[in-house]
Amino acid sequence: MGALEILYVGSEGRETVHEIVSRGGVVHDASNVYDGIAQLKRTGVGAAVIDFDRLQPDPGRAVTALRAAAGARPVLVAMTSDEWEEVRPHGFLDQDEVLVRPFYPDELWRRVERTAMPAPAKAVVNFRNDADRLGALMEDSRRLNRCTNDLSAMAHQCVAVLKARLRAGRVSLFLKSKDPGQLTIVGTAGLDKQVRDEAILTLGEGIAGELAQRQRVALVREAGRDGPATNRSYKRSSYMIAPLVQDHDVVGVICVTDRFEHGPFRDEDLAYLQAFAETAAQAVFNGLQYRAADELATIDELTQLFNRRYFNRVLPQEVVRSLRYKHDLTLAMIDVDHFKQYNDSMGHQAGDRALAAVSRVLSESFREADIVVRYGGEEFVVIMPETSRKEGNGVGFVHRARESVQDLGLEFEGPQGRKRVLTISGGVATLPAQAKSWEELVELADRALFRAKEAGRNTIVGY
Ligand code: GH3
Ligand code: MG
Ligand code: MG
Repeated sequence: MGALEILYVGSEGRETVHEIVSRGGVVHDASNVYDGIAQLKRTGVGAAVIDFDRLQPDPGRAVTALRAAAGARPVLVAMTSDEWEEVRPHGFLDQDEVLVRPFYPDELWRRVERTAMPAPAKAVVNFRNDADRLGALMEDSRRLNRCTNDLSAMAHQCVAVLKARLRAGRVSLFLKSKDPGQLTIVGTAGLDKQVRDEAILTLGEGIAGELAQRQRVALVREAGRDGPATNRSYKRSSYMIAPLVQDHDVVGVICVTDRFEHGPFRDEDLAYLQAFAETAAQAVFNGLQYRAADELATIDELTQLFNRRYFNRVLPQEVVRSLRYKHDLTLAMIDVDHFKQYNDSMGHQAGDRALAAVSRVLSESFREADIVVRYGGEEFVVIMPETSRKEGNGVGFVHRARESVQDLGLEFEGPQGRKRVLTISGGVATLPAQAKSWEELVELADRALFRAKEAGRNTIVGY
């Protein structure tokens, strides 16, 4: 594998990007989008990183142009989480194309290394002999197997590799989902965003679904003549489909369409796809196992929130990051009021359902970047990165959540037999203004929570 080369467009965060160099990578600089596009076309860089401010005045257009020049190579846009909140509704960027600032060199390296194509893969058409082909297959297999702990990176590798090897305009990968018999699209190259968002494949339905259920690969030279017609508008009428089968179970499906050259895909293309699918099935299976184990270990089953184990791992990291980049970090400790009485009057199972409902409200109340955790029993913690206390931000968010929980209207018989609805109390503290370490942050938020309880509950207190 050659050295990792990335293109960097921008000025901010340059040092971070240049960490790449210290790890044996190569960084090409460009000062604006036009220069960036020219370099993408000219050089063999594996990925591009662009500062958000360089996309002005028309970020949507700039991204489209960069993507077109990059082809299968990833384009990452570096921005703050506030900028991302602003940009997200416009829909021209995907979450996996965003590098939230501040990011560690490690994070950048990981993202780029996982997704970048170290060197353009040779097209199948260029293989001189079987040894060549086998070498390519082994290289592709290694690329997938490096991503066992990150399925979306694996999916990206999968489609990018096949796009180059098979000289296809569009490649998509569907992976087994939690719903039985359904696969969802996870990796695409050459598909527009709308198609990506909608794509679900049901076993037994449609061309790909039927082939997958029968665990058969297919090469259709001309849709409508030697195989079923497709219902979408492809540029060429030839396509290939290969299910990923592991232990007689379909774990994924690969669809390859829109051959670059005129004429249909050929037998050797199918042979490559078939061999690739066999090694990919094993890699995907391992990735799914890893993800399931990781979720079990960090997600609380009743509430589907992160558990304390995850919290213990993540809070120290977030604190280090905040202190280093001088960003505020706010933490809320939340406790359900009179929950013992809720259980006593409504029953333990109703108590469980109430906890799940409160948890849903909490996850919906906070921003995507916030981390909502079941700390234990009927206690929750929310980590809010880049949230200050100055504008009353942190406390305000938690108040909103408190109101939403109250609005659930979960009635029970409270102290002295009085009818009440279920409420929460919260304590909020901020770093670095108040606490200097993660231990202290938890301690101060907990003290504030105690004061909220003393003040009569159903309230939020800032330390
Ligand atoms: P306060 O307003 O002071 O917080 O009163 P409280 O009754 O909520 O406080 P306390 O800590 O005395 O009681 C918490 C209760 O939460 C006791 C426990 O049985 C219940 N609880 C903890 N985890 C679960 C759970 O997973 N399911 C159910 N149903 N109840 C739980
Ligand atoms: Mg409690
Ligand atoms: Mg309580």
